[in-house]
Amino acid sequence: MELPRFKYHPDPVATGSIVASDTRCARCGKVRGFIYTGPAYAIETYRDCICPWCIADGSAHEKLGITFTCEWDIARPKAQDPIPRAVVEEVAYRTPGFRGWEQSRWWTHCGDAAIFLGRAGREDLEGFDAEERAVIRESVGLCAGPEWDEFFDALTKGGSPRAYAFRCSKCGRRGGYADCD
Ligand SMILES: [Zn+2]
Ligand SMILES: [Zn+2]
Repeated sequence: MELPRFKYHPDPVATGSIVASDTRCARCGKVRGFIYTGPAYAIETYRDCICPWCIADGSAHEKLGITFTCEWDIARPKAQDPIPRAVVEEVAYRTPGFRGWEQSRWWTHCGDAAIFLGRAGREDLEGFDAEERAVIRESVGLCAGPEWDEFFDALTKGGSPRAYAFRCSKCGRRGGYADCD
């Protein structure tokens, strides 16, 4: 079965937020072959037990009250353009989130949520131009210089510190942020 489409998280299998699994979905009660492994904020605990279809159709949010990325973590830090409420809801309630060392944040650009490309290490950011890298640098509050160079060289997809790469859905510019354990 083909996975549902998520505009802002187009390949959740590649990013590791959705994995092949025969776990039964806590919302629809079916074994769909895939399960979501990212954050699920709710009163109850829903760890690795929601299928991608119940995320996409909004039922996991409506029936179980699950939020996948906190609303206030979309559009941080200091986004210039306000993000339409409908976009915030699509990302928070109907898009798979992802796990970071810190609580995950959703990068935004051009007044829209950006497309999540995945966790990124130094080699994944080699293709970023200077301005795009500066976005990652500013996210950790560093100035250009040896301290940043050292941090950049240490970025690793599977460890700490690491970056989270996004691409603007409107202008195609890349950006994101970094965190560490
Ligand atoms: Zn389901
Ligand atoms: Zn843009």
